[in-house]
Amino acid sequence: MYQLIKSKAILDGTGSAPIPEGCLLIQNDRIAGIGKEEEFAGLDGIVEMVDCTSHYILPGLIDSHNHLSIVPALGDQLGQMALPPGRNILRSLPNIQKSLQSGVTTMRIVGEENFIDIDIKKAIEEELIPGPRLLVSGRGLVASNGHGAALTVSDGEEEIRRHARENFAKGADLIKLFVTGGISSSKTGIDFCSYSSKEVRMAVEEADRYGSYVAAHAHGGPGLDLCIEEGVRTIEHAALINESQLEGVVNKDLWIIGTFSILFHETGIEQTDFNDPVIKDKVLRTREIVSENFHRVIHSGANLALGTDSMHGLLAYEMECLVRFGATNIQAISAVTKHAAEALRIEDRLGTLEKGKIADFIGLPANPLDDIKNMSQVEFVYKNGKQIT
Ligand SMILES: [Zn+2]
Repeated sequence: MYQLIKSKAILDGTGSAPIPEGCLLIQNDRIAGIGKEEEFAGLDGIVEMVDCTSHYILPGLIDSHNHLSIVPALGDQLGQMALPPGRNILRSLPNIQKSLQSGVTTMRIVGEENFIDIDIKKAIEEELIPGPRLLVSGRGLVASNGHGAALTVSDGEEEIRRHARENFAKGADLIKLFVTGGISSSKTGIDFCSYSSKEVRMAVEEADRYGSYVAAHAHGGPGLDLCIEEGVRTIEHAALINESQLEGVVNKDLWIIGTFSILFHETGIEQTDFNDPVIKDKVLRTREIVSENFHRVIHSGANLALGTDSMHGLLAYEMECLVRFGATNIQAISAVTKHAAEALRIEDRLGTLEKGKIADFIGLPANPLDDIKNMSQVEFVYKNGKQIT
């Protein structure tokens, strides 16, 4: 049994020109072919035709940096993450739906307490609840005086080793390490470095040994240098990245994961945390710096993907920001499809619409190459070859 999805045009995510009136042939959960309708004319087997000729079809979107239980507009993000696990699983459900409705079919979760991300991942796999497929990190590794400390802290190499192993034992796909300060906390500066080189190295070694990698929260300063030197794979946020660090990222083929909506969107940190003058000042200064720095990042050729960082459903806004900083619409689309899949090491099965890959795709009424804002109008979502919204 095949499904033949007829579109207005297919943007396959590889960066090639759109296929006008392109068709997607689906068998079970996989893409069995892609091309013009006549190419599938003599096909054997029952074919169900699906008329999407008023829609542009793109790969399912990949959100490379998100959390499940946090809603930034409610303030006190770490307090939210520290709520009891049952409550946080329930609090996560509407957030997951927002992501799904916005076209996200794969999402990387970079820090939750009580392993709720691992439980939710299983519930989605078992089809107990609808949601994007998740890649999860379990509990983030964070120093007791570092940004991101909610319930679990990891000080010293031995605790890092033990917590990394426990995360993997429970089912984590990667390790999240908080190396520098952050914007939504007032305790430390953004470029404060909370870990030693040995501690960062330990996390990288344990992840490597397990065939995985480290995603590091790092905005800039000496902590970002450590991440580059010690070999983390993805650098989250990188708001303060300087010229030589950017060169290091390019030379070592690392990834930068941009997260803009939490900083720029009106429903982001500004909504409640602006009551704290330290955070307000950080946000206003960082907005200017990020606009300049990401202009350089885009033009440096560095590997780049995007994440919503708890701004559930706003991946299209992340893309809009990237375009405002100087990216082309195609670059912005790649940052949530092909390139995101490469960053997350899932490019063998996801990220583009190509024969043999998993049939995750979305439909838009208007062409996102004409206006990137059209990415916010996702009208249907298929995951594993089945329509889920
Ligand atoms: Zn985050």
